[in-house]
Amino acid sequence: TAAMNEKTIKTTCPYCGVGCGIVATVDDAIGHQVTIQGDPDHPSNFGKLCSKGSALGDTVSTENRLLHPEVHCIPCDWNTALDTVADGLTSVIRQYGPDAIAFYVSGQLLTEDYYVVNKFMKGFIGSANIDTNSRLCMSSAVTGYKRAFGADAVPCSYEDLEAAELIVLTGSNTAWCHPIVFQRIRKAKENNPALKIVVIDPRRTATCDSADLHLTIKPGMDGLLFNGLLTYLAQTDALDNDYIAAHTQDFEWALQSARNTAGNIEIVAQDCGLSSADVEKFYGWYAKTAKTVTVYSQGVNQSSSGSDKCNAIINCHLATGRIGKPGMGPFSFTGQPNAMGGREVGGLANTLAAHMELDNPEHIDRVARFWQTDRIATRPGLKAVELFDAIDAGTIKAVWIIATNPVVTLPDADKVKNALKRCNLVIVSDCIKNTDTVDLAHIRLPAAGWSEKAGTVTNMERRISRQRPLFPFSGLAKPDWWIISQVAARMGFKHAFDYRSSADIFREHAALSGFENNLEGQPRDFDISAFADLTEDAYDRLQPVQWPVTKKNPNGTERLFTDGKFYTASRKARFIAIRPRAPVNKPDPNYPFTLNTGRLRDQWHTMTRTGLSAKLNAHKPEPFVEIHPLDAARYHLQTHDLATISSLWGNMIARVVITENQQPGSLFVPMHWTAQFSSRGRVGALVNPVIDPHSGQPESKQTPAAITPY
Ligand code: SF4
Repeated sequence: TAAMNEKTIKTTCPYCGVGCGIVATVDDAIGHQVTIQGDPDHPSNFGKLCSKGSALGDTVSTENRLLHPEVHCIPCDWNTALDTVADGLTSVIRQYGPDAIAFYVSGQLLTEDYYVVNKFMKGFIGSANIDTNSRLCMSSAVTGYKRAFGADAVPCSYEDLEAAELIVLTGSNTAWCHPIVFQRIRKAKENNPALKIVVIDPRRTATCDSADLHLTIKPGMDGLLFNGLLTYLAQTDALDNDYIAAHTQDFEWALQSARNTAGNIEIVAQDCGLSSADVEKFYGWYAKTAKTVTVYSQGVNQSSSGSDKCNAIINCHLATGRIGKPGMGPFSFTGQPNAMGGREVGGLANTLAAHMELDNPEHIDRVARFWQTDRIATRPGLKAVELFDAIDAGTIKAVWIIATNPVVTLPDADKVKNALKRCNLVIVSDCIKNTDTVDLAHIRLPAAGWSEKAGTVTNMERRISRQRPLFPFSGLAKPDWWIISQVAARMGFKHAFDYRSSADIFREHAALSGFENNLEGQPRDFDISAFADLTEDAYDRLQPVQWPVTKKNPNGTERLFTDGKFYTASRKARFIAIRPRAPVNKPDPNYPFTLNTGRLRDQWHTMTRTGLSAKLNAHKPEPFVEIHPLDAARYHLQTHDLATISSLWGNMIARVVITENQQPGSLFVPMHWTAQFSSRGRVGALVNPVIDPHSGQPESKQTPAAITPY
């Protein structure tokens, strides 16, 4: 009988940006249990899963779920909760205007949810004060792409890593943060021993085990290292002058800036804390290896000069013509499963749906006509850190937080906590009943979780995949798009939010991506208009596919810029002149260390789901701080001691781990622990709230800090 009730469903892992396909087996007779396997047919993972994906079955219990709406801690039905939300928002708008409302959303949302909440806020409430936790993860990469290519367009595919002969991994512990892609890289190296891997990271991480060269760069100096590379490429005749002339602009300007700031290897080596021999080896390999992919992730993005670092990397690829060809290109790795889908629907406070921009009146007009609204926001909104500052200052009176835990993850997180405590109206939609942020909500809305929701996500190689439901909704939980649409209807916008299914929303999203696209022979990059007429059945069966997906190109696009044409007005890629900048706050006698933060192999974000798995918790069971042996001796710290780590912004307690993987003068603390798991384990409370002026991304990797025995 068991086998008769069994069914297998193809879906996608909800954790990292690799976007692995999953085959889930559920048995209706048994109830809330699932067996998880990798999907052998999914082109991003070919059947492989990492520890987190494999343990998804441990996380689908309903025990920790928020199962019914609550208003001021009193359980209620949906009508009461939705009426209260709609009345609360309407009253704030009447009294203070639309900019007194804010939304803070998440790269955990499915594209359909993300689209609807952005349409509601930007199109109908009429403010762009909606930002996302993806701001903390990849907004510098977005800025880098837009400045260079004229669009937020990731050029590469995972296949390019397998075709490469040199892979440069900078600011990325790929082995732990994107494990299945790392397995593909390792396999590629086994198949081609000539493939070289260079890791650029102040820490020695698990990724370094596969490296031919590890550059233990001084924290924050990546921009200088890549400016030095551009200078070296010019000095050694390694430029592709034909490509530069035909397909790019502003090269001389960028080269001059590189020469001025990183004129020779000795200067670069000294300022980056590296040996000249190692820098020369890296530069020499890069100069000689046409098939080069440069991967960059949070170590580059989470910086007050993150956007410039991204462009310094892209400059070197443009200067050598290494883009749009197999085995070549700059490749940003995103953290979250749907950071990319969020970018597509205009999830950032400065963007509009379908990769259009809030600082472009033509785009605003086009989206307003498509949505048939005269209330659309006409200027960019507040980015994450500024948005919580405005809540703290009292200019934002109501905030709706969806699927994220900013009390743990934002920099200066104690300030965020106090801001929410003071805010007039805090609405939180979540599938978990007691996170640090849910605890502060006046209104709690139970959202459907992974294994219940239907929709799409886009992974970091632009591949759109389906998430499919395995179980019915738990308790009274509902999809986020439904919750938003119900509130929008109560506020008078039913005509624009009359969706019956996630397929309805996906079709509209696809139609907008093709709406008046390619007007003056200048296409937008994000175009999935081939899906504008998708039937329900075809949506159910949708196979993983890389955008753009158009009627002319229905099978998707593996690689961008193969024709050397970009999305700028001139159709040429732009070099950006970079003046490297060190981190804003420098260590001093009171805070003599540089505190770095990052992910662990077996936890996801604030552990609300992975923390449910005994197997995953066994990897690293408590908050810890890594410190070099010389520093440990100087500060009288022994292995397994507890230590207090403090900064100008806050403090925490963690277990001491003494390791030479850490450079002297630096500390590393994982980002995951929350007050739920460890009362003083939130590293976000220590992180300096400094942001990149172009992208608004916080400098989460470099905070001056002190450490003392607890
Ligand atoms: Fe999930 Fe990422 Fe692991 Fe794949 S690599 S199974 S997407 S966490």
